[in-house]
Amino acid sequence: MPPAVCGSVSPRNSLRAVSPHALSDLLEGLHGIDAAAPVHIHIAEQQAEVDDCLAWSGARPVQWLLDNAPVDERWCLVHATTMTAAESQRVAARGAVAGLCPSTEANLGDGVFDAPTYLAANGRWGIGSDSHASVSVVDELRLLEYSQRLTQQRRNVFASAAQPDVAQRLWLAAARRRQHARPGGRSARSKSAAALTSSCSTPAACTPA
Ligand SMILES: [Zn+2]
Repeated sequence: MPPAVCGSVSPRNSLRAVSPHALSDLLEGLHGIDAAAPVHIHIAEQQAEVDDCLAWSGARPVQWLLDNAPVDERWCLVHATTMTAAESQRVAARGAVAGLCPSTEANLGDGVFDAPTYLAANGRWGIGSDSHASVSVVDELRLLEYSQRLTQQRRNVFASAAQPDVAQRLWLAAARRRQHARPGGRSARSKSAAALTSSCSTPAACTPA
């Protein structure tokens, strides 16, 4: 498996703790090892983090990252809970993955990811738990859909015209991210639920493309 940069760049997961120069050096070093290596960074998880980043840089975390780093399909933006619609659309356009961790985001009271906006922009996403409290991908996917129903006040948020079965769409999308995470590896679609669950305890394990 290629090396990955785990981008918890400060104890509070805030970009204010990393300078553009330090981030650039980090990415340059990684690129020197493996130009295709995935890059993971925890970002925009909580409103306080957004406020800190605004105070530090004048920009929101995702906005700052997109403006200052070569975010592309190698990147996994873990949580990305508090993105604006414009940020969602920009992340989707870059081809990055939003690494969603519904149980942790619920546990910490982070907020709810704006899935409809992101899905409408054809944004890529992956699922994880970001902790050892839950290692059930089924539970994570269920919470992902149910949290959307609560905020949208409607059912079947993850359904689409092409894939009207919510459970199937959720599962196949999560499995597809897992497949992309391991180029040359066998498809997660052939794995048992237990196997997919055990390998997706963190978004880093299942979301990079
Ligand atoms: Zn996290």
